Amino acid sequence: SSDDEGGEEYLFKIVIIGDSAVGKSNLLSRYARNEFNLHSKATIGVEFQTQSMEIDGKEVKAQIWDTAGQERFRAVTSAYYRGAVGALVVYDISRRTTFDSVGRWLDELKTHSDTTVARMLVGNKCDLENIRDVSVEEGKSLAEAEGLFFMETSALDSTNVKKAFEIVIREIYNNVS
Ligand code: GDP
Ligand code: MG
Repeated sequence: SSDDEGGEEYLFKIVIIGDSAVGKSNLLSRYARNEFNLHSKATIGVEFQTQSMEIDGKEVKAQIWDTAGQERFRAVTSAYYRGAVGALVVYDISRRTTFDSVGRWLDELKTHSDTTVARMLVGNKCDLENIRDVSVEEGKSLAEAEGLFFMETSALDSTNVKKAFEIVIREIYNNVS
């Protein structure tokens, strides 16, 4: 569609995946509303939030989807992935099991996507340095091996949250423009 100046508008669907309690919902609430919830156990069903940024003078909207806790039941549906052009694959740097699951999430993403997906591996909770269980190097090398962007983040103290989303959004934009 067009705006008054004849430019284009962009709307990109991005999904956040990864094991339960890695911080997916808080990454989204930090990015979209600058909010963090220390006690968010199960997410109450907000399906997605929309956030805009400007690239090349154009408004680019990201519609970012949250699993709303479905991942606990291994029931993330194909509808969740449908049309996604970007993905954040999240693990918790203080829980190795969540890092071990990354391969399974990447497989699931591949199975459900029929287009190029801009993918970012996200090691969240980097504020928990004292109980770190996965090194930065391990994250980096997995990302390199799988051809993903990589970033460690903290939804709690905001480290790299905006950056992680914006790198993915820019990459999608570059893929389509
Ligand atoms: P989800 O199940 O992946 O959506 O994870 P949530 O966003 O619900 O977060 C699970 C738990 O981890 C909650 O208690 C959050 O407060 C906590 N949490 C999320 N992100 C961070 C973070 O960056 N640092 C720390 N220390 N805790 C976090
Ligand atoms: Mg959640």
